[in-house]
Amino acid sequence: MAGVSLKCGDCGALLKSVQEAQDHAELTSHSNFAESTEPVLNLVCKDCGKPCRSITESDLHTKRTGHADFVDQTAVNIGPISLEVPKAVPEDAMDIDADGVSGKPEGIVTRYIVKTRPV
Ligand SMILES: [Zn+2]
Ligand SMILES: [Zn+2]
Repeated sequence: MAGVSLKCGDCGALLKSVQEAQDHAELTSHSNFAESTEPVLNLVCKDCGKPCRSITESDLHTKRTGHADFVDQTAVNIGPISLEVPKAVPEDAMDIDADGVSGKPEGIVTRYIVKTRPV
């Protein structure tokens, strides 16, 4: 069973890479990571390009900014997770498309409808 993400056993957060898991561990002191087959959501705001990785996060973004259109790119990024630990950590590990989105991806663009989370 190939994992596509790492799941934090302490809080259930899904991490996209070993590096993220390491960051998470540093921030939270959580240390129980396991491979998970649940994909990490990747919802990209159509208005400003902000990536959100959970419905909660996109919800919050909508509330804060009024942006309500998200492109679900979860499937685009799905793949077996690499358990390699990157050696050199780039100084700025931000997503390339975080700002200055030049070409919006067309083709596999699914409009993501924001739903109200059941409490
Ligand atoms: Zn955690
Ligand atoms: Zn936005």
